[in-house]
Amino acid sequence: MATILDGKKLRDKILVDLEQKISTFEHKPKLVVILVGDNPASQIYVGNKQKCAQKIGIISEVVHYSSDIEENVLINKIHELNNDKSVTAILVQLPLPKHISKINVIDAIAPKKDVDGFTPYNFGKLFSGEKPYVYPCTPKGILLLLDEYGIDIAGKHAVVVGRSNIVGHPMSQMLLNRNATVTVCHSHTRNLAQITKTADILVSAVGKNIIKGEMLKSGCVVIDVGIFKDGSGKLHGDVEFEPSSKIASYISPVPGGVGPMTIASLMLNTVELFENNL
Ligand code: NAP
Repeated sequence: MATILDGKKLRDKILVDLEQKISTFEHKPKLVVILVGDNPASQIYVGNKQKCAQKIGIISEVVHYSSDIEENVLINKIHELNNDKSVTAILVQLPLPKHISKINVIDAIAPKKDVDGFTPYNFGKLFSGEKPYVYPCTPKGILLLLDEYGIDIAGKHAVVVGRSNIVGHPMSQMLLNRNATVTVCHSHTRNLAQITKTADILVSAVGKNIIKGEMLKSGCVVIDVGIFKDGSGKLHGDVEFEPSSKIASYISPVPGGVGPMTIASLMLNTVELFENNL
C-alpha cells in the first residue's frame, strides 16, 4: 500500500514555525485579498485564507466588490495597494467576472507584492529558470510535500496532466527546474494512459475523475490536485484512490493532500515578500 502524503500534517508544522517567526517581527506582514462577486467557492477559499493568516499573526484584509465592478476601478485599487507601504502582499481571487480582463488585473499587481507569483515578471523569472519573488502556491506546496517525504525529483519522468497557469504550467517548469524529465498532458493529448504509465511522478490537475489505477506505473508517486464534487456533494480528486494506492508508492489524498499545502505556501509567500521588503 502506498504511503499517504499527508498535507495537513506538513501544513500544521509550517504554520507553527511561521507563527513563531512572525511573533518576532516588530511590524507584521499584511495580506490584502481582493474578491469580486459572490462565487460561493471563492468566498470559502478567501475566508479560509483570511482565517489562516490571522491565526499566525499576519494582518489580513478582504476587499470585496460586487460582480458588476468596472475593470478600471479594480485596477486603481490595486495601484493604491501597490503604493501603500503597510500592504506587503496582494492576492486577487480568481476567477473574475467575464467583463474583467484577468491579464490586465494581474499585470497591475506590483511583482514585489504578488503573493501568488502570477505576474508576468514572476512568471518570466520562473520560466527562465531564475528565482521569482515567490513561486505559485500550489506547485510550491507540491514540491514541499515531495521534499518532506524525501522523494527524489532529478532524473525522474514527471507527467503533469493539466496546463493551467495556476497549477499545471508552473508545476511543469518547477519540476524541470529540479531536473525532472517532464511531459505535459492536456485535453488534446492522445493516449493519456500510455503516457501516465511511464510516469515516475504523476501530477494530475484537471478537475475530473480521469486517472484510474491501471493508468499508473508500479511504485510511482501520485499527486492529486483536482477537486470536484459529485451529485451528492462529496469531494473527489482526479485519481481513483483505492486501486491507485495499491500500485503507487506514495499518493496524496483528496482532501488532506495538496489543498492544505496550497494554503501553507500562501502563508510562506506572504512572509517571504514581507522579509524581502524589509
Ligand atoms: P483548469 O484551468 O480548468 O485546467 C484544467 C486542465 O485540465 C486544462 O489544462 C485542460 O486542458 C486539462 N484537461 C481537461 N480535460 C482533460 C482530459 N480529459 N485529459 C487531459 N487533460 C485535460 O483548472 P486548474 O485551475 O488547473 O485546476 C485543476 C483542478 O485542480 C481543479 O479541480 C481545481 O479545483 C483544482 N485545484 C486545486 C487546488 C488545491 O489547492 N488543491 C489548487 C488549484 C486548483 P486544456 O488546457 O487543453 O483545456
